[in-house]
Amino acid sequence: MKHLAHRRALVEAAFEVRSSGLSPGTSGNLSIRVPRGFLITPSGVPFETLVPADVVLLGPTGDVATDRMRPSTEWPLHAAIYADRPEAEAVVHLHSPHATAVACLRKDIPAFHYMVAVAGGDSIRCARYETFGTEELALAALEALEDRRACLLANHGQVAIGESLTETVRLAREVEDLSHTWSVALEAGDPVILTTDEIEKVAGKLRGYGQSEAKAGTSDDRPTLLTERLVLRPFRSEDAPVVRDLAGAREVAANTLTIPHPYPEGEAERWIAGHASAFQAGDLVIFAITTEVDGLTGAVGLMLDDGSGIAELGYWVGVPYWGRGYATEAATAVIEYGFRDLALQRIWARAFARNPASSRVLEKIGMVHEGTQRKGIRKNDELLDTQLYAILREDRQGEDE
Ligand code: 13P
Ligand code: ZN
Repeated sequence: MKHLAHRRALVEAAFEVRSSGLSPGTSGNLSIRVPRGFLITPSGVPFETLVPADVVLLGPTGDVATDRMRPSTEWPLHAAIYADRPEAEAVVHLHSPHATAVACLRKDIPAFHYMVAVAGGDSIRCARYETFGTEELALAALEALEDRRACLLANHGQVAIGESLTETVRLAREVEDLSHTWSVALEAGDPVILTTDEIEKVAGKLRGYGQSEAKAGTSDDRPTLLTERLVLRPFRSEDAPVVRDLAGAREVAANTLTIPHPYPEGEAERWIAGHASAFQAGDLVIFAITTEVDGLTGAVGLMLDDGSGIAELGYWVGVPYWGRGYATEAATAVIEYGFRDLALQRIWARAFARNPASSRVLEKIGMVHEGTQRKGIRKNDELLDTQLYAILREDRQGEDE
């Protein structure tokens, strides 16, 4: 699956706005810019049920890639913002209750409070009313967003844009809070409006306010899985010497396709260094199999096949830890993670026919033997028979869909 880290960030942000009451029902939509397009939440799906594979990848003009869900009906709004506002890395549209209530007045929010400046000027404009999901609404929003990072949409809700998803969600939350305060102030009397000069002073101060922060999606958000005896965590650079020892053993190299023997100098460092970017690219998710007593004992991972819903499972366990069932326990957790978090449909694996122990692991984790490939793989200068195994999403007991 392409852009896994960004998909996860979007799902988490959607969950956050949903659980804090900022997106009633299935209202609202969120997107992040990616190279040659953007990722957007699917239409009409409750945010609390979203998984990364539900997020839809669109080209710059809304042409759908191969995703399984229909994109948000507001994709023209998001597409127009990415086209018109090169600084926008994320767009958040919400029907948050107070912003929506104020938007029904079809009036801009003036600088009644200094924090109005966070939206980029001395007011938060209200875009004219247009039907949801239309190009007309997109144009109205672009006009109201001129020199601004947020606006209201008449009789509808609000839109915020920003340089990261985290920052954009925070701005949308601020617009909601300001709308709330504005309606309370209006009810209480006649709020005093700050001058443009005062707002400019605030804008200057806000630029240096708070702490600098990493942008969403660029941080390392690789998962950690817990099982009864194991912690499956990302590899770290300091694991390299142990990887060299364990993966460098002749018995381990003999039973895996890609581990070289003798194990070259610097190979463990190179291998570990590639994991984070391979995860961000959605190509690979790989876990160190660790225990409290023994530390690092092996590796398990999924090689993802570019959005197809299919992945290959691979693993190795260091010779001192053979016969303890670690591979079975780790692979079970990783398969569950693949079906649940990555929305995979099929996970397959292969074992050398000369290594029946590996076939036993694959059978124990619920995989079905699909056949033997005679001379299926070249390992060094030999062609070896391989056993093919696979488990489908629907094969699992207590399946979640
Ligand atoms: P979607 O569920 O299609 O994203 O629509 C929600 C919405 O807010 C429309 O304006
Ligand atoms: Zn809406």
